[in-house]
Amino acid sequence: MICWSTIETVCPMCGCQLHVREAGGCDVLGQDTDLLIRTRAPHVIRVEIHSCPDCRFSGYSSDFLGGRVVALTIETYFREYIEKLKDDCEADCSSGDPPTHLQYYWAGLLSPLLGYEPLETGMKMLRAYWSLRLDAPDSLDEASLDGLRHRYLCQAIAFLRKSLRKEKNPAYLYLVGELCRRNGNWMHSQNYFNRFLARSSRPRHLRNAATLLIQRARRRDSSHLGMEELLYPSRNQSNVIEAPEEDRGS
Ligand SMILES: [Zn+2]
Repeated sequence: MICWSTIETVCPMCGCQLHVREAGGCDVLGQDTDLLIRTRAPHVIRVEIHSCPDCRFSGYSSDFLGGRVVALTIETYFREYIEKLKDDCEADCSSGDPPTHLQYYWAGLLSPLLGYEPLETGMKMLRAYWSLRLDAPDSLDEASLDGLRHRYLCQAIAFLRKSLRKEKNPAYLYLVGELCRRNGNWMHSQNYFNRFLARSSRPRHLRNAATLLIQRARRRDSSHLGMEELLYPSRNQSNVIEAPEEDRGS
């Protein structure tokens, strides 16, 4: 289980009062498709994101508490950004928070404005993609879901590729390779997996996985299948009983 504390604050953009959650603990069970950390429900990424109910400014609790926003940013937000945060899916935002995937997408769009590095922006877009797997809204049909998955994957891949110019941890090469495979970018996928194998001798389970996923990328037949479904088909079956939420729409 996870726990969090709730803090009352105001939106740094418009001054609207709201509550944010600071997550305090996370029972990590392992790593799932695309390196998403698996936890017992509710997943930690569901409680870490917040949106202002008035102006839709979105981010982590630190974005609402940390004084990161300066006057110039506020002006730019209302002049250039707020229009980008539209409900372009059929989400019902009238009752409570918007769907988690949309909150992460909005946070990702705002991320460069707040001065975050491409790695941070890419991870927010990736969390938007992950959120669709954890909480796919019932109101969205399969075509709409596919469109959103593709949009979030493209954004995540673009920013994470940019981050690789600075990022030294080879696990991100693996991550980009896997996201490219999920997006059907087969050549890019093989390229990033090969770069990961050339750069890193550890961890061993990721090297074994990369070798197998390169073969699947060559066959161009598996973008609809998650990493875990390809690597651990028997374990995936047992997860249907143990952790049903992880199997939805992956
Ligand atoms: Zn606001």
